[in-house]
Parts: sequence; C-alpha cells; structure tokens
Amino acid sequence: MSRYLGSVCKLCRREKEKLFLKGEKCSVNCTLERKRGKNNPGQHGSAKVKISDYAKHLREKQKTRRVYGLTEEQFSHYYKMAEKMKGSTGDNLIKLLELRLDNVVYRLGFASSKKMARQIVNHGNILVNEKKIDMPRYQLKVGDVVTIPEKYKLNAVIKKLVERTTPNVPTWLSFDKNKFFGTVISDPLIGEISHPINSQLIVEYYSK
Ligand code: SF4
Repeated sequence: MSRYLGSVCKLCRREKEKLFLKGEKCSVNCTLERKRGKNNPGQHGSAKVKISDYAKHLREKQKTRRVYGLTEEQFSHYYKMAEKMKGSTGDNLIKLLELRLDNVVYRLGFASSKKMARQIVNHGNILVNEKKIDMPRYQLKVGDVVTIPEKYKLNAVIKKLVERTTPNVPTWLSFDKNKFFGTVISDPLIGEISHPINSQLIVEYYSK
C-alpha cells in the first residue's frame, strides 16, 4: 500500500486526538480544536456511531501506524518482528518503532515532525556512527551515535529547533546540543514514547 498523501489533519480527526503530524503548526493552529474538527472526516462525520470492540482495537493500530508514518505493510512487518523477539510483543513493537532512525532524529529535536525527520534522513543529512544513512527505517541500537554533517549544523532552522526542543529528549537518549550529537544510551522506555499508545490493544487486534 502506498503512503497517505491526503490532509494529515483528517487522520487526527479520524482518531479523535492530536497526532502532531504537522510539527510546530499543531501547537498554534490545530484543526481538531475547532468545532468542525471534532467530527469524523467525511459527509456524515457528525453522525454518532457506537464504537465496537473491533473498532477500538483497529483504531489503536491505525493511530500508531499514523504516528510513526508507516504503511499497513510496514506496520505489519514490525509486528511480525516484535512477535519473534523475547518478551512482551507490545513492548517490543513500541521499542522497534521508537528506534527507527527518523523517530530518533525527531526525538533529538533535529525536526519538528516525523515527516520532516524522514525528509532530513532521505536527503542524506544524518550520520550514524559517522556514516551517512539515508534510510528512515534504519534500526538504531544502544551505543549508536546520531549527528548531522558539519555544513548542516549552520542551517538556521535546525539550530533553532535544537535550541527549542532539547528539553523533550527522552532519558534513553543523550544529547549534546553544542555538538549536535545524540547517543542511544538504553532501550526506549515504554513510559517515554512520543505518543500515548496502548500496545496491548494492537496485540489483541493482530491476535483476532
Ligand atoms: Fe493533527 Fe496537527 Fe492537524 Fe492538529 S494541526 S489536526 S495535531 S496534524
């Protein structure tokens, strides 16, 4: 399935919560905070619909997929990987998603949204252990060092973002904002993921 190219605000309306898909714009002018934005997208969006148990599980899976900007196929691939790992499948899934390179670039504050983080990676502006990596799906591990090339450090947008977002860096990452230097110091902590997610509902969705 191809990547979604429509209005991202519709995705938040569908999930009835802010998914912060437009970066900084989400804090100042959010569609969801306007009256019409509270309805589901589409012609009959204001109709009251009873949510079934299946829909509850489906929505949690869809929300998580949208938060990380993944296609259905990519998400199901992560789920299969999580199932094969030792421990809780739900926790494994979240850890795998959090350790994607685009997500870590976002969490370090190099980008104001995950979409922007993906673009920065795609354009070859991210180094992992001093090597250029241009795959947003690249899976980081403990000890990996993420930084940006010297010439990109002079970019005014990046400098401003790093200054502003550094306090939000989770404790499983360390970040030196003077050197633009981030390190994965432990596995992602489930309590510190970028968006509240009930991974148990996702596990139940795939187990049905
Ligand atoms: Fe979602 Fe951001 Fe649009 Fe608000 S402004 S609905 S948080 S994408």
